[in-house]
Amino acid sequence: MTPIIIIGTGFAGYTLAREFRKLDSNTPLLMITSDDGRSYPKPMLSNALTKGKTADELALADANSMAKTLNARIVTNSVVTQINPQQKTIVLSNGEQLNYKQLVLAVGANPIRIPIRGISDNNIISINSLEDYTRFRNELESTKHVALIGPGLIGCEFANDLISAGKEVSVIGPDPYPMSTLLPKAIADELESYLAKAGVNWYLGTTVAEINHKEQSYKITLANGENVRADLLVSAIGLRPNIDLAKKAGLEIARGIKTDNGLQTSQENIFALGDCAEVAGHSLLFIAPILAAAKALAKTLSGTPTTVKYPAMPVAIKTPVYPLVVSPPPHGVIGEWQFELASSGFGIKGLFISNTKDLLGFVLSGDMVAEKQVLAKQLPELLA
Ligand SMILES: Cc1cc2nc3c(=O)[nH]c(=O)nc-3n(C[C@H](O)[C@H](O)[C@H](O)COP(=O)(O)OP(=O)(O)OC[C@H]3O[C@@H](n4cnc5c(N)ncnc54)[C@H](O)[C@@H]3O)c2cc1C
Repeated sequence: MTPIIIIGTGFAGYTLAREFRKLDSNTPLLMITSDDGRSYPKPMLSNALTKGKTADELALADANSMAKTLNARIVTNSVVTQINPQQKTIVLSNGEQLNYKQLVLAVGANPIRIPIRGISDNNIISINSLEDYTRFRNELESTKHVALIGPGLIGCEFANDLISAGKEVSVIGPDPYPMSTLLPKAIADELESYLAKAGVNWYLGTTVAEINHKEQSYKITLANGENVRADLLVSAIGLRPNIDLAKKAGLEIARGIKTDNGLQTSQENIFALGDCAEVAGHSLLFIAPILAAAKALAKTLSGTPTTVKYPAMPVAIKTPVYPLVVSPPPHGVIGEWQFELASSGFGIKGLFISNTKDLLGFVLSGDMVAEKQVLAKQLPELLA
């Protein structure tokens, strides 16, 4: 029997396979991954230091035991280089051609990299896989001072984790305040100040002009003329959906691989989910939408066409010195932020209210994070 092929064994690929096996124990399942196929909780990459976990300790199961659990064949360390939708085949890097009954792209997202004058790209680590994390932990052993380029969500999480683990941390970025695309200024200012009290050095409103590598250390020259010294460089300037394979195959692309609300791409029998997918206009690079999408797609693949629904999905941000939960308002909506200080003095509730007086988004910090569930229920669904 021709198999269903899933490309990718990240959270999206493995969750889909698990959900599918709950409904269909017979159809052959073939999974292909360019990495070693270990299953691991990716969100823990940015708080594993404080939790005292190494890369190997983060891995929950290797490819062999996943293959057994899922009754699947898993091909590891193999890159899919081509999809031929007309022939319903894919081609691997070793030239092997495989037929699929249905194909699922769960190929994730890639860190955005920008060239920096003075050093080679290889000098800067981005952390988006267990392999990246292994390198990060190895290099961290002989490191005192880490420079993090990118004051966004992931940069702030790593800053908190590194500080808690006793490292010196400098965070650099053009944004006026941390997590500027997700947080209103009033709350971002508090985050900046709590992380600064914990020891983070902020270099905001400026960019890296040049980095010079001397012996074991880096001299970072900023566009505003300041200098920062560091022993390790980490880039956290964002992720971009991995669209290359789909684009080459002629699938429709927007920010991610375009799918309808049934996760189907512009080609019949080819589906996409996870960080690579843009589902009915939503490119959401986090866990909750993947769970919802995997459950719906598993039903479709087992013979019951199903569309995905997204409720509001607030995200908890792993900055324990200043806990945060965010559910940002949709882009471009008109309204205003209203703020309330926690009675304890630690934390703020920020509500984004539309001009028709509807709650469209919120940010909670400190002791206010306890209101997450109650507020999430009041938000409109993202995808009905
Ligand atoms: C540091 C960090 C912290 C995070 N924290 C949170 C959090 O707290 N909460 C939250 O909700 N989300 C968080 N996220 C986001 C969340 O982890 C991701 O949305 C999710 O793990 C993405 O899973 P995925 O399977 O789509 O992609 P990936 O895990 O990237 O998997 C992609 C898979 O595709 C394979 N692949 C790619 N191209 C090919 C090819 N051509 N051929 C073969 N195989 C290929 C790769 O080998 C890999 O197996 C975090 C992300 C990071 C990086």
